[in-house]
Amino acid sequence: MKNNIILLVNPWIYDFAAYDFWIKPMGLLSIGSILEHFGYKTFLIDCMDRFHPLILKKSTRGISPKHKYGTGKFLRQVVEKPEMLSDIPRKYCRYGMPMDTFNEALSNIPQPDVILVTSMMTYWYPGPFKAIELLRQAFPKTRIILGGIYATLYHEHAEKYSGADVVITGPGERQALQLVDQITGNESDWNLFPEKWSEMPEPSYRYYNTLASVPVMTSRGCPYRCSFCASYLLCDTFEQKEPQRILEHIEYHYRKRHVNQFAFFDDALLVNKEAHIKKILEGCENRSVHVNFHTPNGLHAGKIDAEIAQIMFKTNFKTIRLSYETSNKARQKEMLHKVSDDALSNALDHLENAGYARNHIDVYVIMGLPGQELEEVVDSMIFVNSLGAKVRLTSFSPIPNTVDWNRAVTRFEMEENPDPLLTNNTIFPLKNERQTYDQFQNLRNLSKVLNYALDQDISLFRQTHLNEIFYAAMNKYFKLNK
Ligand code: SF4
Repeated sequence: MKNNIILLVNPWIYDFAAYDFWIKPMGLLSIGSILEHFGYKTFLIDCMDRFHPLILKKSTRGISPKHKYGTGKFLRQVVEKPEMLSDIPRKYCRYGMPMDTFNEALSNIPQPDVILVTSMMTYWYPGPFKAIELLRQAFPKTRIILGGIYATLYHEHAEKYSGADVVITGPGERQALQLVDQITGNESDWNLFPEKWSEMPEPSYRYYNTLASVPVMTSRGCPYRCSFCASYLLCDTFEQKEPQRILEHIEYHYRKRHVNQFAFFDDALLVNKEAHIKKILEGCENRSVHVNFHTPNGLHAGKIDAEIAQIMFKTNFKTIRLSYETSNKARQKEMLHKVSDDALSNALDHLENAGYARNHIDVYVIMGLPGQELEEVVDSMIFVNSLGAKVRLTSFSPIPNTVDWNRAVTRFEMEENPDPLLTNNTIFPLKNERQTYDQFQNLRNLSKVLNYALDQDISLFRQTHLNEIFYAAMNKYFKLNK
């Protein structure tokens, strides 16, 4: 007999590095809300919950305390590197809940009728695989469904190797309910199913005993098409929720769960800003919802004008990251002029005029794109530094069916179906034979030097003649030919 019990699982991260910047499995939590809405009883095991009661019960030793703004280190265990990563001179770890805690958490769950496992970055797939293996041992007769980003982008790989009974792709709310109904033999009333994503219930955070922060998505999808990005492959439409709903969601967690840190995870938060984000922030102010906001995904600098900068300052946006990526004009054009040098410069002026210190603002610069020389990355970092902002360096990771994936296949002679582990952004750019692990480390170290100096209020490249001296030094010590 079915009890309509559904277990949701967010697996571990396997990588060279990971840090909790407000992450929660929002897609899985949305599915949890939908299933509850249709009468199912859901349980969650989130391996990445730093404050899971079983972890806190055993010991708080080694548990990262609440860091600034609710971020913090995950617990980690060094594990054996997969063979294909064996030449990378870094430790490979399983981040998140210890294995015995996971097994204990499992033993506290009543027999589920269906298990839903999510997946995040494509090269983190050992996490869902391990979870599925353990879930299979614990509940051998229960059907396991795998969804999420890896399952969407590497559907065939996931079907072949994950061990899940069913692998779903794309937004999962409707598919999950259909499958759960099918397996349990229930017939949900589909007239009650929201037609649009924007009408769906908000992700449920009731599963978490301790909430240091709440991530928020006010929109899904992105109207832009950057050559390296998979946003449109995961969701090909752009939809925004009613500001009122978002406001209520934030206010509920502020008043009832005493959460003060909210991170917007939108891909395009500032699109339609008059009718959208402005309304949300004005609402927070009018209702005296005094919280901190963070924008871990880069904001579109071109959309930051004097007014929105002032509103952001007034409503406590504390972590601001801006998208820039590169100073290369051809590449900027290719990103549909998402961000030009002038747009970035103007955005920083507006933010400074509103009250922000420039060195408290991070600007994303990407390295390792196919065809991207090291000089382009250095130029981009220098430009950001010359504006007085911090460089946040990210590495390219190729995603199937994007423009840069095809370029990577041609340029790096990459296999058409490489193991997703090889697309890890820590190692992928090294495929370019002209670049080495050490050179990338040098770029990372350079960004640290620039940012360190900014912390002392010194922008090394405000005086442009320093560029030449710097390049001469780079040439001498790093063999960077400019
Ligand atoms: S703006 Fe951001 S989310 Fe949108 S396509 Fe570009 S990188 Fe992706």
